[in-house]
Amino acid sequence: MKDTFKHKGLRQQLVNVIKAKGIADKNVLDAIGSIPRHLFMDSSFLDHAYQDKAFPIGADQTISQPYTVAFQSELLQVKPGDKVLEIGTGSGYQCAVLCKLGAKVYSIERQQELFKKTSKFLPKLGYRAKKLIFGDGYKGLPEEAPFDSIIVTAGAPFVPKPLLSQLKIGGRLVIPVGDDVQMMTLFVRKGPKEFEQHEYGEFRFVPLLEDKN
Ligand code: SAH
Repeated sequence: MKDTFKHKGLRQQLVNVIKAKGIADKNVLDAIGSIPRHLFMDSSFLDHAYQDKAFPIGADQTISQPYTVAFQSELLQVKPGDKVLEIGTGSGYQCAVLCKLGAKVYSIERQQELFKKTSKFLPKLGYRAKKLIFGDGYKGLPEEAPFDSIIVTAGAPFVPKPLLSQLKIGGRLVIPVGDDVQMMTLFVRKGPKEFEQHEYGEFRFVPLLEDKN
């Protein structure tokens, strides 16, 4: 598990690329600049780790494109100490970014293989989520609610109601909504039943799946 000067240099170039694409939040850029993304990928993809692209991580899943991770993280407006729920732990890269931003992260993954792999791997790198959960993200995590923010990292065919109801007042849900292509959508909870909704353009994610395999 090496992180060399070469990796650091490539990472800085990646930061410059996503900055040029419009990411401005310094804390988010610092997180991308400090997390060794190559260690979250299979060795056969190491050369690709610092390109701004999504890549396979096994179990038919992908590690999201760095720009997308940065974009969603920026929309969340994480403050240190925030309680954040992530749906779709996957490789753990987005989770590491949230930890680096100072969040207390709860993250749910429905693929057992990925859940096990990432549960072992993340602490080894020094990123300690509050809790990694094997389960169905459509239900959220009622026992730990309410959350300051919730991030969904798979394409949701619709907005799961439990996620909206598990937000604090003032809390933010960032979720890509749609089937083949998703609209990046932000919900801000203004009151018990009031939500403000904003849309931020199209992205492509692997689907948020309903049934366990
Ligand atoms: N945040 C991840 C992105 C992984 S891709 C990363 O940084 O690498 C999306 C992930 O969502 C996949 O791992 C997939 O298994 C998971 N997923 C799909 N449907 C889910 C559901 N209903 N509940 C929880 N996780 C789900």
